[in-house]
Amino acid sequence: MSIRIQPRKAKPFRLEDILNNNVWDVDKEPHIKVDIEKCKDCPTKPCTRLCPAECFTLLEGNILFSYEGCLECGTCRVVCPQEAIEWNYPVSGRGIHYRFS
Ligand code: SF4
Repeated sequence: MSIRIQPRKAKPFRLEDILNNNVWDVDKEPHIKVDIEKCKDCPTKPCTRLCPAECFTLLEGNILFSYEGCLECGTCRVVCPQEAIEWNYPVSGRGIHYRFS
């Protein structure tokens, strides 16, 4: 008698599911400040497409920003052509706490 061992199939996963494992300890003070006036002159607004946490939203041509779900990746600071982003890490112990499971 032979025993057949089935290979394990990798479960598909979604980015949202992985991010939901993380915990945020949100500070009252935003660690990122956006100069919305500079954003008005920005022709491409790359932050609205490249922020992985979708912290930037375009509403009727204006940028809306919320820092609460920030992943602290720094992408917005790098891609902003207007230098409209004042970027700092949250104060010690605040912000995202990554959980790897
Ligand atoms: S640091 Fe990264 S996650 Fe946070 S707002 Fe900027 S692009 Fe989004």
